[in-house]
Amino acid sequence: MPSAPRTPSVREQFERLLGRACAIVARAPGRVNLIGEHTDYNDGFVFPMALEHCTWVAAAPRSDGQVRAVATDLPDDRSWPVADWPRERLPHWTAYVAGVAALLRARAPRFGGADVLVTSTVPVGSGLSSSAALEVSTAAALAALADVTLAPTELADLARRAEHEYAGVPCGIMDQYISVLGQAGAALLLDCRSRTWEHVPLALPGHTVVIVNSGVRHKLASGEYAARQQQCQAAVAHFRRLRPEVRALRDVTPAEVAAEAARLDATVAARARHVVTENERTQAAAAALRRGNLTEFGRLMCASHASLRDDYQVSCRELDLLVEIIGAVSGVRGVRMTGGGFGGCVVALAETDSVSHIEAALRERYEAAGNGPAALILSRPGAGAAVEYRG
Ligand code: ADP
Ligand code: MG
Repeated sequence: MPSAPRTPSVREQFERLLGRACAIVARAPGRVNLIGEHTDYNDGFVFPMALEHCTWVAAAPRSDGQVRAVATDLPDDRSWPVADWPRERLPHWTAYVAGVAALLRARAPRFGGADVLVTSTVPVGSGLSSSAALEVSTAAALAALADVTLAPTELADLARRAEHEYAGVPCGIMDQYISVLGQAGAALLLDCRSRTWEHVPLALPGHTVVIVNSGVRHKLASGEYAARQQQCQAAVAHFRRLRPEVRALRDVTPAEVAAEAARLDATVAARARHVVTENERTQAAAAALRRGNLTEFGRLMCASHASLRDDYQVSCRELDLLVEIIGAVSGVRGVRMTGGGFGGCVVALAETDSVSHIEAALRERYEAAGNGPAALILSRPGAGAAVEYRG
């Protein structure tokens, strides 16, 4: 459920678990991508909104060059020298904290370490970007502790580098940018090539953004993502032979993909078709929202799902079933898988009055059919990262 301000309890938890008072509390949100999936690494457009669900990081300075990190949601707290995180510990949640601390130390050599407490209301590992919420909240807290002022994009870039270089996840820019740039009441149309953005008011009279967590995460995901990136590159190589100025699928139109489909490998053609049509849908969705046309926005969400399922083939049985069940509820404008795929969440735009019908339909048709619980997550568009407390 949307979280109330939690700074007081975060300070208490810090004192209880680390035995001293904290000096800083920072907060950063998770996100849901409304439309624009697998477009980021093709230099395209994404359209996420920040959630009210956040990760909080409380911190106090140390002078012995150590970082100690404790999380209330995951076991296994650890200490390490700030500039020297033992990488053989991968994969471990402290990788994200360690990356941020080391990168900050490189900018602020006087940063002498910290005690860190992490607590969160973002579901972990469900495609709502708990990883970016962790990196960005850590970066905001430790920058404040080290007295380093970072511009919003510097904060996002530092957080993203931590994910790349320490957690070993080659993510695009979306998650960290929206976690920093989120605005209450707005979604973010982000151009992943120019790194420019526009806040689009998300006025949804009588409607609600409904997220449903499938609770599944299929193991094949990371290998499949790498294969998709290679297929996109193969498509770019083909179109560049025709038009040397093509640098990414961003530069290719749906008409061009249709015209060349017979000369492309069938799988590569389908992957390219998803990306180029998704870029168009994403911009059209932002435009529909500006006009207040929620029916059109919902139609584009459904088309996005079909394209991800059929052309990009990153959906799975559970996500398709959720989309089918939710899409059949009266008052639902649109529904699609969100995030990388092969599990995680679906996102729907629905009349607020239909939320209880969605819950009932999930119980009757998803859970009763032997699938795990489908958890509903409701959030208005939330604000980006902020320092909430300075002692
Ligand atoms: P997502 O970003 O979709 O939630 P990821 O696999 O990218 O999923 O990131 C999840 C990882 O981030 C976790 O396995 C953990 O290492 C780290 N993480 C996220 N939230 C927390 C938290 N509240 N406390 C500790 N580690 C966290
Ligand atoms: Mg993540």
